[in-house]
Amino acid sequence: MQLQPTASHFIDGAYVEDTEGAPIDIIYPATGQVIGRVHAATPAIVDRALASAEAAQRDWARRTGRERGRILTRAAAIIRERNHELSVLETHDTGKPLQETLAVDATSAADALEYFGGLAASLTGEHIALGEDWVYTVREPLGVCVGIGAWNYPTQIAAWKGAPALACGNAMVFKPSETTPICALKLAEILVEAGLPKGVYNVVQGMGEVGAALVGDPRVAKVSLTGSVPTGRKVYAAAAAQMKHVTMELGGKSPLIIFDDADLDNAVGGAINGNFYSSGQVCSNGTRVFVQKGIKEAFLARLAERLGDAVIGDPLDEATSFGPMVSAAQMNIVLGYVDKGKAEGARLICGGQRLARDGFYVAPTVFADVSDDMTIAREEIFGPVMSVLDFEDEAEAVARANATEFGLSAGVFTRDLSRAHRVIGQMQAGSCFINSYNDAPVEAPFGGVKASGVGRENSKEAIQHYSQVKSVYVRMGDVEAPF
Ligand code: NAD
Repeated sequence: MQLQPTASHFIDGAYVEDTEGAPIDIIYPATGQVIGRVHAATPAIVDRALASAEAAQRDWARRTGRERGRILTRAAAIIRERNHELSVLETHDTGKPLQETLAVDATSAADALEYFGGLAASLTGEHIALGEDWVYTVREPLGVCVGIGAWNYPTQIAAWKGAPALACGNAMVFKPSETTPICALKLAEILVEAGLPKGVYNVVQGMGEVGAALVGDPRVAKVSLTGSVPTGRKVYAAAAAQMKHVTMELGGKSPLIIFDDADLDNAVGGAINGNFYSSGQVCSNGTRVFVQKGIKEAFLARLAERLGDAVIGDPLDEATSFGPMVSAAQMNIVLGYVDKGKAEGARLICGGQRLARDGFYVAPTVFADVSDDMTIAREEIFGPVMSVLDFEDEAEAVARANATEFGLSAGVFTRDLSRAHRVIGQMQAGSCFINSYNDAPVEAPFGGVKASGVGRENSKEAIQHYSQVKSVYVRMGDVEAPF
């Protein structure tokens, strides 16, 4: 297994190195050891990637949708064949257990390439009859799109942005998070192996300043960011200054409401999936778990029992179900929040500390008796920290669930069908769940409202965000003019 990438960047169909750029160490989160190194893109590298994308996009857009789709579908097949190898890479990039990466990372990238590859041939306009005259519309690509990724799902994010962009006839320059630089390079390599023309999908490394250079370049028509709300505000503002299209997939502090008629084990399972998968580093996590008073103690007891079954250990061991945080920095942020939870009077049910082993492990942590004004109930932690809040009735739960600047996700567990739909109908959130949590199939739109984002990824919705409509009026008779 080669963990050191062939080179830092992938431009114009090939790996490119430029050691002039600042070095970025690749650290394996399970041990804290440096396993490789890349270099941030210099302005010359950024320029080269954008020039290559701009040149390649014109020819790519001229191909039929079927031709474009065939290449994406072929890439999906290659990814599925190499799922194990790619999952091992993803585990080294992020620290997430192989048990997870085998199931949801490369496979999710393959899903996106298959789905948008399949849609590419059916992107059509419409014909609008106007008596003798008529209008037809054409769905056109935007041009060069920039994708900027977070570190929690490096393969998935690179593909969720790349697949719809390429299906619509755009080219892309993707900048992975500096914390997880490896996986997007592999995606670029596989796309070229599948027949993608050089320059259509490029990867450049770097910190925020490389992202900012890409966003500010006039050759770029659209920016899709997955990241935090503060970064989203900066990137959205910079894109707006040049009237660019944007998709913003940002953070959240999502509510999961559990009524006392819920199936207890399913509700506990949903809360576990919505707080501890990927060690809690999931944007849509339901970290404010509102539990109706009638089942609160039963819920906490069952939760503590099931958390005891978590297998914490070497992420490369397929039995491991809970791994480290992505970095020392993220671990320290999370531990800071744990301290605030304790200091502000939340009741610690389990966890609450760093684990005594190498790597950046934080124990799965549950706080009960959390109130709405506590820091751990208001701010995104992005780690394995669940806050359990009590509530009496439906109206109260709905009002408190919505009392946040975020609006990415929301979930409800209840056996009452009417209540489930009534509550979800009132949630100010983009991606919602009934008697489930955190499912993200490519067929379903994904994205947030309020500060959690703009636009949608996945599903047919994503097509709207990677293309634009041209309308053409066709006059069949003479032109009438006033003079
Ligand atoms: P981050 O905001 O620190 O960084 C995200 C990316 O933006 C990185 O690649 C970074 O280099 C880049 N960046 C930083 N400053 C920039 C600038 N001024 N211009 C352009 N690019 C810039 O986020 P992170 O710490 O990598 O990821 C965690 C955050 O991402 C969390 O808030 C999480 O909720 C969010 N997230 C959201 C989703 C979603 O789909 N909604 C998915 C995963 C993560």
